Amino acid sequence: MTSSKDFEIDADELLELAKDLIRIPSIYTQEAEISSYIYGRLDEWGVSPRRIPVEGHGPCVVAQIGDEGFPSIVLNGHMDTVEVMAGWEHDPFGAELEDGRLIGLGALDMKCGLASMMVAFRALAEAEPTKGHRIIFQAVSGEEDNGSGTRTLIQSGEFEGAEAAIVGEGFGGLSAVTHGRRGGAYYAFEVKGQSAHGATPNLGKNAIVDASKIICALEKSELAVSNALRSDALELLRETQTVLRIAGGGSSLSVPERCTIEFMRCTIPGGRTDLRGELKSLVQELSLECEVDIRFKGGPGDLYLPYLTNPESALVRAAVASITEYTGKEPALVCGVSEADDNLISQELSVPVICVGPGELGEMARYHRPEESIGVSQLTAAAKVYCSTVNRLCGT
Ligand SMILES: [Zn+2]
Repeated sequence: MTSSKDFEIDADELLELAKDLIRIPSIYTQEAEISSYIYGRLDEWGVSPRRIPVEGHGPCVVAQIGDEGFPSIVLNGHMDTVEVMAGWEHDPFGAELEDGRLIGLGALDMKCGLASMMVAFRALAEAEPTKGHRIIFQAVSGEEDNGSGTRTLIQSGEFEGAEAAIVGEGFGGLSAVTHGRRGGAYYAFEVKGQSAHGATPNLGKNAIVDASKIICALEKSELAVSNALRSDALELLRETQTVLRIAGGGSSLSVPERCTIEFMRCTIPGGRTDLRGELKSLVQELSLECEVDIRFKGGPGDLYLPYLTNPESALVRAAVASITEYTGKEPALVCGVSEADDNLISQELSVPVICVGPGELGEMARYHRPEESIGVSQLTAAAKVYCSTVNRLCGT
């Protein structure tokens, strides 16, 4: 692999851009304003952005360097954040700077990554033409809401010809490259009992009691642990599961005739992804009074498959070499524990994908938590890593 040249990244300009992104509220479904801000900046930079409408969300913004028909390297980052949660002491949209940390909703997840990607994309556009490759920048909406933006780009052919994709989620910051991720499988158990007067429970079938037996049995499920893959907390990657919701009841003063349990299992690369058989026999072994239907929830967003991008792939090697070059330290290869847009890119398109970007580990990894912040020294390094990784993949 060739060593990369040094890209000119203006650290002050990049920090101002990140602050601007934080100051524009963009809670999922409300991405219109940030989307037009990003469109405006890319337009000003002369990289011919386009808007792609997304149902129920602000439009995605995409731009491209290089000629149509060449294979492409995709830089993908999301514009949206989760809601403002309780516990903020700083203004979540204030973009305040304190002790080298930029504070605000989305600072970590992932407006700083997005700003670094935008600036990297411009630097690549200004550098020599990338022979035989296209570079595509995508600012997407709705990531925190079932990945609607990236799904739309997949369906509308925006990934056509993609040979690699880098998502700017920086779990672990530049000390790690996320080259795999757990998936998620969502199921519902519909427990159907029989109503009777509450004073004569023997005449009915209590759906809530049977549902509670299912929950207790689920708690005893054996969950797999990987013997090699590490999570972004550097622990062995393991399956986990959670009961998400229970709702049930029936008529007034009556034995409850229905109860629904919603359940999710986080799956790991190389492990089980379809649990219908396992859940069915778990219920059978309980010999319940009530009838139970197990539904795979089946809508968009109800199945994210785990993925693993080969550590020997050109993409992973290019990212590792670039990070080592700019930080002086070889990053760990890790797997993300929660589903994200890279799951979709891998499962729908089989495109090699990784996540790299500014991020934090340990107590500072306040993803979806109040007082989210990021160490700003990472921003310029991340932008250079994006440029250098793309450059290595293009062989220039
Ligand atoms: Zn994110």
